[in-house]
Amino acid sequence: MSSRCAQITEVGWSKDLAITALEISTPPTGNQIQVEIEACGVCHRDLIDRSGRFKFIRVPITPGHEAVGRVTKVGPDVVEWQVGDRVATMHRDFCGECEACKDNEVSLCAGAAAVLGLLVNGGYATHMVAPERCFYAMDDNVEAKQAAIFHCTLGTAYRGLTRFGKIKAGSRVAIVGANGGVGAAAIQIVDRMGAYPIAIVRDSFHHDFLMSLGAAEVLVDPGNTFHKRLSGGTANIVLDCVGEPTFNSSMRSLRVGGKMVVVGNIVPEKASLNLGYIITRGLQITGSSGASRVDMENVLRLHREKPFHSIIHQELSLDEADKAQRLVRSGGLRGRIVLTP
Ligand SMILES: [Zn+2]
Ligand SMILES: [Zn+2]
Repeated sequence: MSSRCAQITEVGWSKDLAITALEISTPPTGNQIQVEIEACGVCHRDLIDRSGRFKFIRVPITPGHEAVGRVTKVGPDVVEWQVGDRVATMHRDFCGECEACKDNEVSLCAGAAAVLGLLVNGGYATHMVAPERCFYAMDDNVEAKQAAIFHCTLGTAYRGLTRFGKIKAGSRVAIVGANGGVGAAAIQIVDRMGAYPIAIVRDSFHHDFLMSLGAAEVLVDPGNTFHKRLSGGTANIVLDCVGEPTFNSSMRSLRVGGKMVVVGNIVPEKASLNLGYIITRGLQITGSSGASRVDMENVLRLHREKPFHSIIHQELSLDEADKAQRLVRSGGLRGRIVLTP
């Protein structure tokens, strides 16, 4: 059987992603499953991977940790899936044994070895083969391009806001970089929780899109001093989807005792912190990435009750994978670009 994939053959941006045809001759071994891919999201982390910021990247490699598809073959040790099941990817597998796994925090697993797009071929492909614990169960009726990005957008936002942000009805939640995939997902999660989503973006171009997702207000601030312009007071929670450029303004947007959840890291520069400010105001700052299978069950339950809005910027073909990554790199998108084989 033949399959097609996009590959990073050399770390960096001087060489385009290569579109490669591969013969899949051997069936999956051990705990691996083979999945026929319906769609795969193009995430900012894919750019970080390609830029070589994770030194352990193994090239050539197929990027993509936001894929959805059907199981077409299972290895002899697979226990969770059968041929025909619909599955979507998480960022990596989990060991099931370590402290984090026992606490159900599988995205913090210390023993996970199969990091999609870095150590194991990911979803920019017609087919992928990966350990069964890289996947969670996806409903049959969620449209492929939306299902592909559920984990890394809605799941990331849900986990960050509910478990780290401790969001409650009435919480004022500032979402910084609200036009991206996680931000656009977060607006909807905050709205669903009966809380107050304040969308913060650099460009007024995004205003109507963000209001249509459920933003209570949109604050346009190209200069990263939005903390001075928050109407109605500071926020209980800030979800920062950008990173160093907005870090300090995000922190200063918090009220005393507030919680900041950092999910974005778009530039390699380090943020500098005024520790006295954190100490005297009793702030909490936490990082968050991805979600567990339990989180994803909760996200899917919310979707069944009332479908989330689609947050697809554009659909491109697998052959346009390089173009897709360069569009993400140029910034300013509304949600995700999704590739279809
Ligand atoms: Zn992602
Ligand atoms: Zn583990």
